[in-house]
Amino acid sequence: MKLLLVFVTVAVSFTSCKRDEIRPHSRQSTAMETYVSVTTYDGNLSQHDAYALIDSAFAEVNRIEHVMTDYSESSEIGTINRKAGADTVSVSDEVVSLLQASLSFSQQSAGAFDVSIGAIVKAWDFLSSEPEVPSRSKIRMVLRLTGFKNVMVEGTKVFLTEKGMRLDLGGIAKGYAVDRAVEILKRNGVKHAIVDIGGNLGVWWEGTRGVDSTVAEILVRHPRKDGKYFGSLKVGTAGVSTSGDYQRYFFHDGVRYHHIIDPATGYPARDVVSVTIIANDALNADALSTLVFVLGREKGMNFIKDREGVEGIIVWEEEGVLHHELSPGLQGKFTRSDD
Ligand code: AMP
Ligand code: MG
Repeated sequence: MKLLLVFVTVAVSFTSCKRDEIRPHSRQSTAMETYVSVTTYDGNLSQHDAYALIDSAFAEVNRIEHVMTDYSESSEIGTINRKAGADTVSVSDEVVSLLQASLSFSQQSAGAFDVSIGAIVKAWDFLSSEPEVPSRSKIRMVLRLTGFKNVMVEGTKVFLTEKGMRLDLGGIAKGYAVDRAVEILKRNGVKHAIVDIGGNLGVWWEGTRGVDSTVAEILVRHPRKDGKYFGSLKVGTAGVSTSGDYQRYFFHDGVRYHHIIDPATGYPARDVVSVTIIANDALNADALSTLVFVLGREKGMNFIKDREGVEGIIVWEEEGVLHHELSPGLQGKFTRSDD
């Protein structure tokens, strides 16, 4: 079992700025079961002010973790889970809008993305020190406790229709937290910053946008070589997120079992090894990287192509060799570096 806690490297190339405008201040922490890194690049900020703002961004991430975690029985999500099949729970507008966004991703993907995946994720227990492959009967049982159509949201009231059902926002909450952290920096006048929660990045660079800008060079982790990079691409203001089968996994009888589950089968999605999504914000990038991973190579790439403002890199493995495909908007903009 392996939980990746190594920082993703983001090199900032500053093509559009003068050197003295971009003095970086950076702090790292851990939250949401992974690393958090916040960097401001503003020549006008004193170290003291930059660190104070970075700490406010961390505080926001911690606040969101306390609301969204399904590990605590008393968080809003924990309460919904505890009352599954029994009671309706009143929640904050924030939880409602994140759930509604999640359900919309489920509808768009015929359930490939599903925040009601919690019972299945719990059965696999990837965070345990000795995870095991659940029995087929266990998988059959938890499959019956999964299904976004059984998540009822009306106004601010939420109800899971089956006892034992569980929400798990692991595929979307980090991206949401990244956006909120970026928002705090922005609101306080920061003009350039990068927030990274476990490979979900928010790049904020005033006056730039998406893959047509080239301020921040994002190094995409190599799916099969620790500490190495698969390639790089340059972006301006955007959300960039990678979902990979190497982030939380274990081997059993030579088979890799990882944390991105196909809700149709209850087993890890098998078609690809990593998906990187570039979207307008980190929430979309996070949810879509998980969603496209589950859809697989062909359906996943079609899904990306159908969406305005979304680009992606899909990596798959054939007989030990990695192959990749870029969405049309990334052609000529991604440099592969592993060979
Ligand atoms: P990510 O690393 O963003 O791809 O998200 C993976 C996490 O999302 C897992 O650790 C689970 O908590 C959750 N998850 C797994 N499978 C799915 C799925 N099919 N839909 C939504 N969330 C999922
Ligand atoms: Mg995700």
